[in-house]
Amino acid sequence: MRILVTGGAGYIGSVAVEELLRIGHSVVVLDNLSKGHRAAVLPGADLAIGEVGDRDALDRVFGTGPVDAVMHFAADSLVGESMKVPGKYFRSNLCEGLQLLDAMKAHGTSKIVFSSTAAVYGEPVSVPIRETDPSSPSNPYGASKLGFESALRWYREAYGIRSIRLRYFNAAGASELLGEDHDPETHLIPLILEVASGKREAVDIFGTDYETPDGTCIRDYVHVTDLAQAHILALGALDDGREGVYNLGNGEGYSVREVVDCACRVTGEEITAREVGRRPGDPAILVASSDRAVRELGWRPRQAEIDEIVRTAWQWHVAHPGGYGE
Ligand code: UDP
Repeated sequence: MRILVTGGAGYIGSVAVEELLRIGHSVVVLDNLSKGHRAAVLPGADLAIGEVGDRDALDRVFGTGPVDAVMHFAADSLVGESMKVPGKYFRSNLCEGLQLLDAMKAHGTSKIVFSSTAAVYGEPVSVPIRETDPSSPSNPYGASKLGFESALRWYREAYGIRSIRLRYFNAAGASELLGEDHDPETHLIPLILEVASGKREAVDIFGTDYETPDGTCIRDYVHVTDLAQAHILALGALDDGREGVYNLGNGEGYSVREVVDCACRVTGEEITAREVGRRPGDPAILVASSDRAVRELGWRPRQAEIDEIVRTAWQWHVAHPGGYGE
């Protein structure tokens, strides 16, 4: 199949491209390289540099040959930033995405796997979170992703565009070749590893007064190659006529302090953590029930242990001290 991967130069998208190529698909990546890296697009994939919201760029990509399915990763995805500039998030995650859907409609592509997020739930009513639980986002990032999920429902109704919406919990870890490199870095695990490697003096712990056993936020970390694998399964499921929404997490929550402790264990380094105030927009606990993905997609996370997730991230960090170096 020929798959269009938006955001395929980014962290999760690039690993999905790696998996797609490995099993013999043809891949065209559309990425504006604002956060992604040219070097993260493996040889074998075509790279079109452009915006998801640019209809001409989309028409050029669709015009070079039939696109059998789309994987839509391109997004703004920082909770903290979204609280400060909500418009940016609704524009890129919702409005630009609509251009993509309109292009799919115009060019006759009817299958899409969408990168959604645990942030659509907001403060959970019960843990672990199920797909049937209410969605009440605590931040514009989650709200913009939920908005696009909602658009997908109506594009299905009007034009027959079928989708699988994958709600990731906290993506982390690295494949052998590809890892996490953001500028500026805001994510917990890479920041902690920068402290371990001496690139940064300390990591801030955002909030120690949450209603959790140690007062810090609890998240469900899921390995990036397991996420990529779920996309491959979702593609197959769309082919089999399935559609729907699926949580992707390991069902196990770790507090910020526990992740710091884990990184000390895995790296053998001391890691200085500083307690600071809460980051606005952060729910206290996000832990998934992924039973539906396991049951219906046949998803089997292979690197579910937090030590393994942090170990692969550390391995990549040590091998790529300057990230992708661009
Ligand atoms: N976090 C933190 N210090 C940091 C970055 C993140 O304490 O420097 C916390 C954050 O409040 C959240 C968790 O770590 O509870 C994971 O945050 P991250 O930004 O990695 O992912 P998100 O949950 O926002 O997708």
